[in-house]
Amino acid sequence: MEEHYFSLPRNLVVGNGIIDKIGPYFAKLWPKGTYVLIVTGPHVYSLIYPRVKESLEESGFDVNYLIVEKPTVDVAEQAVEEISKSKYNVIAGLGGGKSIDIAKFASFKTSKDFVSIPTAASHDGITSPFASLKGFEKPISVKASVPQLILLDAGLIANSPKRLIRSGIGDILGKWTAVLDWKLAHKLKGEYYGAYAASLALMTAKHVINNSDEIASITPEGTRIILEALVSSGVAMCIAGSSRPASGSEHLFSHALDIVAKHPALHGEQVALGTIMMLYLHGRNWIKAKRVMTRVGLPVKAKDLGIEDVEVVRALTMAHKIRPERYTILGEKGLTWEAAEALARKTGVID
Ligand SMILES: [Zn+2]
Repeated sequence: MEEHYFSLPRNLVVGNGIIDKIGPYFAKLWPKGTYVLIVTGPHVYSLIYPRVKESLEESGFDVNYLIVEKPTVDVAEQAVEEISKSKYNVIAGLGGGKSIDIAKFASFKTSKDFVSIPTAASHDGITSPFASLKGFEKPISVKASVPQLILLDAGLIANSPKRLIRSGIGDILGKWTAVLDWKLAHKLKGEYYGAYAASLALMTAKHVINNSDEIASITPEGTRIILEALVSSGVAMCIAGSSRPASGSEHLFSHALDIVAKHPALHGEQVALGTIMMLYLHGRNWIKAKRVMTRVGLPVKAKDLGIEDVEVVRALTMAHKIRPERYTILGEKGLTWEAAEALARKTGVID
């Protein structure tokens, strides 16, 4: 049997008001006097950073910050350089996806401990061991740190823009088709398939579907369900050692849309649209997916996301080229223009 090595997140805290109690959770893992760098965006810096800093300093940590504006490879490399020259031991990402991706990447490159403190829950990058950065040849994720500590303030995240949270739900729904694609690649291409990681990823989608009424209201309780599902999806990726259980044809479609659309929507919104169409190709219950999306307030039509019909068709025809080594229901040749158009129309994604 081949050896399979993986790391998992070490500590996780989920609850209300966590953001003002961060210091004591750090103190469980690192000694007083540890140098902590908080990577954050300009908006979160002015709103939330002072609270985080205060709590950490009260617990005896030495705290500094780094403001990042864009999740690009260049910004990430600059962060790596700054961290290498300094005495930081812990790198924390505080914010939405961008700050967390930069911190996750930079801590991996510099072998520092990584802490994930999301202020929004728009995708499963809050726990996954991969970072999405722009500027590589292809819009796919790269290997990064597994968090030593994940701090999830459900109250804070419930108050973030609803559109971001709904996007998180969309990202989770995508695990349904991601797992179907993985199984298919296993059967047709002999690709390694981890049944446990696959079950875990699939369970996160089921969990969200089964609790869609509670989630739809986006109360702190509903938000907590979404957060737990996002965390489990990240853990499934840790166990699989790749993003396979969490990212299939629905993600390829979203990545392709990022390239072709004039105004791309949020990652999870696009993934959800892709999920409807890829479920159709898999011969699965795409109508159910649509129903859940409508219930939680996710758009089921491209135009409601500001995406043109022709962009959907173009993205469908090129999705298989985004990551050729990742075999999915789209096959090696992808969809013809006619097939793509028919698929998008049949599922109501375009008119
Ligand atoms: Zn995703």
